[in-house]
Order: sequence, then C-alpha cells, then structure tokens
Amino acid sequence: MERPTYCTELFCLHCGRETPHAVTYIYKWLKSISCLECHLTIARSPQQIHREYLRTLPVRARELIWDLFNEARHRPGYFVHRLPYRLTIKPLQISRELYAVWVT
Ligand SMILES: [Zn+2]
Repeated sequence: MERPTYCTELFCLHCGRETPHAVTYIYKWLKSISCLECHLTIARSPQQIHREYLRTLPVRARELIWDLFNEARHRPGYFVHRLPYRLTIKPLQISRELYAVWVT
C-alpha cells in the first residue's frame, strides 16, 4: 500500500505516442512516471515529496479533527466505541506514512 503502482496509457515524450506507463505513488503523493516501452522515467525528488507532504499535513489534521467532531456530534455511540482503536492505530498510521515518505 505504501508504493502502489498503476498502469495507464499516457503520451510519452520520447516515443511520441501513447504508451503504457507505470505511475508510482507513495501513499497519495506521486513519486514517478515511467514509460514501459522506452523506460523514460520522470521522478520527483525526495525533497519535493517531503515539502508536499509537510504542506498537506496541517490541512489533513484539520479535516480529521473536523470529521471526528462531526462524528462525535451525530453518532456519539460509534465515536466512543471507535475511539480506543483510533487512539492506537492513528499514531501507527502516521509513523508508517512518515517513514514511507522520508525513506524514498
Ligand atoms: Zn516511451
């Protein structure tokens, strides 16, 4: 899940036509696009991925807090039921994500 690769048809600058490409992500951040015929690869630098990750982190934190607030207001029983799990799993998810993004 950390580095899913998708195949899709894209226009290749080297081949001059649409060819199959491998598009690789680190979680939801684009890492590279490679032409599967000529192997031309366009990759983002780790620093670019780090900057984008850090830029999106506060927005994602605000969205998470807002979602939890709404869930606590509209479905308090479910919110309380899921809270211990979330308190356990969220730090693990964030540390896995940080590791994957920083070890690119
Ligand atoms: Zn190509």
